[in-house]
Amino acid sequence: MSPDEWESLCDRCGRCCLHKLENEDSGDIYFTDVACCYLDEESCSCKHYEKRQSLAVNCLVVKPDWAERFHWLPSTCAYRLIYENKELPEWHPLVSGDKDSVHLAGISVRGRTFRDNEVAEEQLIEHLITWVN
Ligand code: SF4
Ligand code: SF4
Repeated sequence: MSPDEWESLCDRCGRCCLHKLENEDSGDIYFTDVACCYLDEESCSCKHYEKRQSLAVNCLVVKPDWAERFHWLPSTCAYRLIYENKELPEWHPLVSGDKDSVHLAGISVRGRTFRDNEVAEEQLIEHLITWVN
C-alpha cells in the first residue's frame, strides 16, 4: 500500500484524537469526550497535521506495523478494521464516495467534544463515554 493509499484509509472521524483512560489491571481502554485542542471540531481533522507530533506529545502516527497497539484505536477505525481483517463499513468515505458520510452516520465526533485545554486531567474520569469503544 502506498503512503497515499494508507492515508486515504482515514475516515476523518476524529475519534482517535479523544483522550482515553486505561484500566491498569485489565488493559481495557475507555474513551472520553475530551478531544485534543488541535482537532478542528467541525471537520474532525487535525488543524496542524504536518507538525502534530511536535505540538501534542501524546499524538501518535498510525503505521502498518503497529500490531498490538491497534487496540488503542476505536473499533470503527479503518486501520484497526484492516488489521483485524474486517471490511470497511458502508459509511466509510472510500465505500460511500462521500467524505461527509462519516458525519451523516453519526460516527465522527463533530459537535460532541470538549477541548483538553478546558478540562483538567483529573476530570477526565467524569467524561467517559460509551458511543466510542
Ligand atoms: S480513528 Fe482512525 S479513521 Fe478515525 S480519524 Fe483516527 S485514524 Fe482516522
Ligand atoms: S495533534 Fe494529534 S491528537 Fe491532536 S488533533 Fe492533531 S492528530 Fe489529533
